[in-house]
Amino acid sequence: MPKILVIEDEAAIRRVLVKILSEENESYKVEEAEDGLQGIEKVKNEDYDLILCDIKMPKMDGVEVLEAVKKNKTRNSNGDDFWSW
Ligand SMILES: [Mg+2]
Repeated sequence: MPKILVIEDEAAIRRVLVKILSEENESYKVEEAEDGLQGIEKVKNEDYDLILCDIKMPKMDGVEVLEAVKKNKTRNSNGDDFWSW
């Protein structure tokens, strides 16, 4: 079951992305985080096949999240994708 994480600070946008992805394929397991810190915590505990991450967010921007995730993922080489907008 492909696991997708959506990191987006705006609730309305996050909700739409989760809805679109969930409806795209019912085998997708879609999770969400409302900021970078919450997203990184999730990444530490779960292997995601895809992470969709906003760039402009409070606390930690998307580039900082990417750097942290890459550091965290150096131990495994499952080719996680990281998309940003
Ligand atoms: Mg945003």
